Amino acid sequence: MKVTRIAYSARLNPGKYAALSEQARRLGRVRGEVWQRYGSINGVGAGLRDRQVRNQWLTDGTHLQFGVSANAWKETVRDAMADIGANLAAAKVGVRRAIDRRTNDPAERKRMFAALRTNQWADDPFLSRQMRTHWKRGRNRTHDQIVVRADKYNAVVDRGRRLWLAIPGLEPRKMVTIPLSTTVAPTGTLRLILRGGRVAVHYQIDPATMRSSQRPCGDRTIGVDKGYTEALTDSDGALHGCALGALLTSESDRLKERNRRRAKLRSIANTAAARGDHAKAHRITANNLGTVKRDRQASRHRAAVRTEVFTAVHRVVDKAATIVAEDLTRTFAGRKALGRNVNRRLAAWTKGVTAEALKNVSERRGSVLVHVNAAYTSQACHRCGRLGRRSGDRLHCTSCGVVCQADVNAAINILQRAGDPDIALHTPHHKVKQILQDRTDRHRTRLPVQDSSPATVGRRANYPNRSAMSIDWEAGSRQ
Ligand SMILES: [Zn+2]
Repeated sequence: MKVTRIAYSARLNPGKYAALSEQARRLGRVRGEVWQRYGSINGVGAGLRDRQVRNQWLTDGTHLQFGVSANAWKETVRDAMADIGANLAAAKVGVRRAIDRRTNDPAERKRMFAALRTNQWADDPFLSRQMRTHWKRGRNRTHDQIVVRADKYNAVVDRGRRLWLAIPGLEPRKMVTIPLSTTVAPTGTLRLILRGGRVAVHYQIDPATMRSSQRPCGDRTIGVDKGYTEALTDSDGALHGCALGALLTSESDRLKERNRRRAKLRSIANTAAARGDHAKAHRITANNLGTVKRDRQASRHRAAVRTEVFTAVHRVVDKAATIVAEDLTRTFAGRKALGRNVNRRLAAWTKGVTAEALKNVSERRGSVLVHVNAAYTSQACHRCGRLGRRSGDRLHCTSCGVVCQADVNAAINILQRAGDPDIALHTPHHKVKQILQDRTDRHRTRLPVQDSSPATVGRRANYPNRSAMSIDWEAGSRQ
């Protein structure tokens, strides 16, 4: 596992920026060609390697049309193939879930998972249909990046202690030097992203060299619930990352206000253009509807949220050897359009950051991350298992009378799910409901626990006890 670091250019000469942009544009055509020719089942999907593509291009002369150096296009081919590979891997996540839903037969599942892993799905009608559903043919959208191999650049510190990065340009043997706003030289393969007159240099470092990785983890098992006001609430009742809510709220308010103003300006520009006053329309677009400042503010906000979330996770790992959490990547909406709703977009993105932080920090500091099924954990009472009533941030249990902080209650439920014999990670939502219901029924009628094997649960799910359905489960079936 690696951690990405970003260095930014400082006061980069516009001429150099233009030259780099031209190089990135040409490399974007290389990417486009790769996606076009190999971005499908017959290309990367059939196990094609970037070395094979390079050899093929060298033989048929494809590379000659791009006007970039050999090393630049070769690195770009490798990068684009990796992008397609990631695209394919993301599609397989959806197909794996479909396999989970389709069969419970271990042998059949094993066969299908293996076929998926080795890209042999084409002969299986079910898998091939699923792959076609989940793997939408993509196209290249990257026209502002340059990938530079580790041995193709150098970093020099000048007399003013300024760091300069020299990378190959479009002219042979001529380097383009970029002043950086840091004194730490980047290492390994670089990805230069050009945006708004500034170059962001992305590179990866070994997390073992980071100071925070040396901190030992704790020795307990802790459940955590992801929140909005605070990044995490743990099963001890402690809150972590308490500034998150304020950060998100202020960003959301700022974005709403800014989007409102921009919409107004855009309509003025459109009206002017419709009237024939193109000069005015252009002036507004160029001066008032730019993206440089907007993008920089957005990246500053993202950095602040990441710091808050990562710090919160470190606090939990300080006391935990095992962290039990909901799989936040699983419920993540993916590319589903979240529309113009700023809050939902921010919340969805923050969830992804939390998932990343939990995985990343756990790996680095040696704690174990256990994912559990979180269905109904925010509604069920942690003491008696019945659904409680939520008011504000408190959960009242009408059965046993417990009143507790809703997120703490959820964190305790999540912790308990780790040892739950009946509710597995992929147990469907409605079955979880049935299992919880069966348990509380037993409590009420004081029957001994006879059998809680999955077979019994399945049978009960098929023939639910109608009299028990009077409990208002439907009121909050979404958690
Ligand atoms: Zn209760």
